[in-house]
Amino acid sequence: MSVSPGCLFTRDDTGQALFLGPAEVTALQEAAQEILAEPSAAGQTPDAGALKELVRLLGATAPGEEPVRMPGEAAAWIELIHGQSLIREALREQGRLRVRHRCRVCDRTLLVDPDRESRTNEEQSDAAQAKQTSGLAKSAAGFDVEHPYRSIALLLLQLVEDEAGKQDVKDKALSRVCAACDSADFETAGLTAFCPGCRAPRTETVLLTCPECGHDFRGAAAAAPVWRSPAEARRARAVALLAARAGEFEKGLRDTQRDALAGTLTGEEELVAMCRCALPGEFGRYVALLFTTTHLAWARESMMSATTSGLVRWADVTAVEDPAESAAEYESGLRLTVAQGAPLVLNDFRGKGVCFGDREAAFDGEGVRRLARLLRGEPPAPAAGEG
Ligand SMILES: [Zn+2]
Ligand SMILES: [Zn+2]
Repeated sequence: MSVSPGCLFTRDDTGQALFLGPAEVTALQEAAQEILAEPSAAGQTPDAGALKELVRLLGATAPGEEPVRMPGEAAAWIELIHGQSLIREALREQGRLRVRHRCRVCDRTLLVDPDRESRTNEEQSDAAQAKQTSGLAKSAAGFDVEHPYRSIALLLLQLVEDEAGKQDVKDKALSRVCAACDSADFETAGLTAFCPGCRAPRTETVLLTCPECGHDFRGAAAAAPVWRSPAEARRARAVALLAARAGEFEKGLRDTQRDALAGTLTGEEELVAMCRCALPGEFGRYVALLFTTTHLAWARESMMSATTSGLVRWADVTAVEDPAESAAEYESGLRLTVAQGAPLVLNDFRGKGVCFGDREAAFDGEGVRRLARLLRGEPPAPAAGEG
């Protein structure tokens, strides 16, 4: 079993699954705790006990373990929190979202449009500061598919306060001032959204339907399913694992190569190993190879050429050989004969590979042939090996 860079959850009621990276688990936990600390909702929410159970389950996770089973009610809370981030994002885009700041001196509340403030700060700050501010604005504004809970963390949580607090220290000169007492000392007191239906200010932590006009805030969130099929969730885990280990790849794995290799994953395989090698006749070792339990994927990229990639399924492989045995012009390496189409020939295996699981592998020609035979389901060769 591979060590995973996150945790896989399965929900008891539907059998669906979800992969969460460590940062997502943390953000989700914080969002849940934020709601528990101030359990105010516009509209009907699921049971608060299930939210506590969610916090407990998220806290009990450890990367690499078997999928964590989650009761349907706790799973529904993940969906709800995810939806809250989308709802707030939509309100923000419509200019209806404000951060509440409370004056620490006279307790008066000030509403600040986070977008207007970050724009102002950007204009008045130096380049480095501006970059940092726009980065923050972007994370908060853009719902990032890779980090779906980052935006909740920024919008719903203490992080709003933390980031705003940091900014205040730096930009004291242009920071807000209390109209009643002239103090510049504020604390963040949450978010206020103005209802698109009746324009009433809503300060609840959870927005579902407006108690005054019945406006349904969930329109923005309805189209974004969080829970996926188990294969999709396993695929997300494998892609995250590949990304997490890419830095160990010999001479680095380019993003486009990594994406090409990730593109071959379906969630039905386990990652086994990856290494660098060459196409016969090329001086440069431009090929990244990814061994999985179902297939071998390759992606070639050099300084001078775009990425080309492909895959060979172990089920289609009819023979694993050393190319040097069958044709004199080939160096030692890996030759996969397939049922249909041209054989895949690779060589110049040396250097360091990456093993995903517990299984050790050698990344010379003999080592990759042994690995290929193993993955293809051939019985292990006698210890003498190739002879
Ligand atoms: Zn004041
Ligand atoms: Zn309303």
